Amino acid sequence: MIILVLNSGSSSVKYILFEMDGEQCLAWGLVERIGDRGSILKHNRHDGHTTKLAGDIVDHTKAIEYILAILLSPNHGVLTDRSEINAVGHRVVHGGERFTDSVLIDGEVMNQLHDCIELAPLHNPHNIKGITACRGLLKDVPQVGVFDTAFHQQMPDYAYLYGLPYILYKRYGVRRYGFHGTSHRYVAARAAVMMGKQIEKINLVTCHLGNGCSSAAVKGGISIDTTMGFTPTEGLMMGTRTGDIDPAALLYIMGREEIGIGEANSLINKHSGLQGISGISNDMRELEEATAEGNERAELAVNMFAYRVKKYIGAYAVAMGGLDGIVFTGGIGENSSEVRRRSLEGLEFLGVELDPEANEADDSDERFIDKGGKVRVMVIPTNEELVIARDTLELIR
Ligand code: ADP
Repeated sequence: MIILVLNSGSSSVKYILFEMDGEQCLAWGLVERIGDRGSILKHNRHDGHTTKLAGDIVDHTKAIEYILAILLSPNHGVLTDRSEINAVGHRVVHGGERFTDSVLIDGEVMNQLHDCIELAPLHNPHNIKGITACRGLLKDVPQVGVFDTAFHQQMPDYAYLYGLPYILYKRYGVRRYGFHGTSHRYVAARAAVMMGKQIEKINLVTCHLGNGCSSAAVKGGISIDTTMGFTPTEGLMMGTRTGDIDPAALLYIMGREEIGIGEANSLINKHSGLQGISGISNDMRELEEATAEGNERAELAVNMFAYRVKKYIGAYAVAMGGLDGIVFTGGIGENSSEVRRRSLEGLEFLGVELDPEANEADDSDERFIDKGGKVRVMVIPTNEELVIARDTLELIR
């Protein structure tokens, strides 16, 4: 069974082609700068062969045509005929309350996907463009949607509601949805396997720390709370997003700075977080270098970042009534021993004992980084694409 996984963004489409017997990745790559000058396809084949293809890639349909062409190319490809693709799995950011699981896409589902656009106007339209293009280009091939929000759809109402008038939830769907669900689901399942426990019997805090960051309380395999909310802005501090903030502080700033909704949105999503505090960068690697050189604002930014991670570990341990494991994933979670160390410092009272040597080891595989005490600490590289491929396979079967 061969499955193509697509992640369609505003100006890019990422792809991975899997042979599901053995879950082998055959090829992967991305199309960048769609609709712009200099659009390009970067392609990698499993045997190490790579190639770049520049072209006039005006829209998502053209991008996917390029992807199919390179996959079928005698020189660079891995397929001989389009019909070898058994199904396509699409990442979809927002599934609202409608999609609690991955879904086989038909006309009715397309309508419902359009209904979700107003919840994620920056992401869903591009995801839908990718799906529409595939439905046109690969007519008889089943398409599956896998949602970032779905894993969090079992949160209880007292966790997902805001203390706003209830009517606003009913009228506009204003509530906490959570994101990165595919990643939290994947690493939680891996953690249970690593710990040799049934996932139904353990409480995990999963920390996805990348450019966007979120933690989840995964109790018995179910996400009962997560840090991102109505939008990805809530919760942990991120590269350029504030994370939690007093909404009245934002209103105050809007008044004092005389800015409107658009600028306020840009302020909290693009100019805040690590970037806003440090004034240097949103990139953790650069901040770690600056910290080592004694830059105080970089130090403050890294400290604030880790403190939020720690605070939510505590909150979720309480929400779940106990803690068996903590997982770090995402670019920062997988690579920054410094952030992991700071996030776990002082949590010995919970039963968390970091092994400094294991934490600092230069290792890209999934691994334990604790001393084997009450609460296990793990680094698990995330693999959202594989989850999308697996869900797709399950649905077409
Ligand atoms: P995205 O959310 O866009 O997928 P990633 O998961 O790739 O992002 O995470 C990007 C973040 O990971 C950046 O802040 C980057 O600095 C950080 N990162 C990547 N490698 C390292 C490293 N070796 N040490 C510290 N931070 C790292």
